[in-house]
Amino acid sequence: MSDSNNKRAKCPICRKEVDLRPQNEFFPFCSSHCQMVDLGNWINEEYRMPVGQSGTERSLPPSDDELN
Ligand SMILES: [Zn+2]
Repeated sequence: MSDSNNKRAKCPICRKEVDLRPQNEFFPFCSSHCQMVDLGNWINEEYRMPVGQSGTERSLPPSDDELN
């Protein structure tokens, strides 16, 4: 019924079908190349992280002037 046994994954980088572990040491990628590409993407993301977030904006608690 279910064909989960021969399920195949796809390389997230180049969309090629890849073997599952343990045959494929680069899983979930198809090759070391795509693995490196993904790693590069991660590093780029890190560099893009906002460094100095402009001051912590906190809303002050409402004053009880209204209760006057
Ligand atoms: Zn690939």
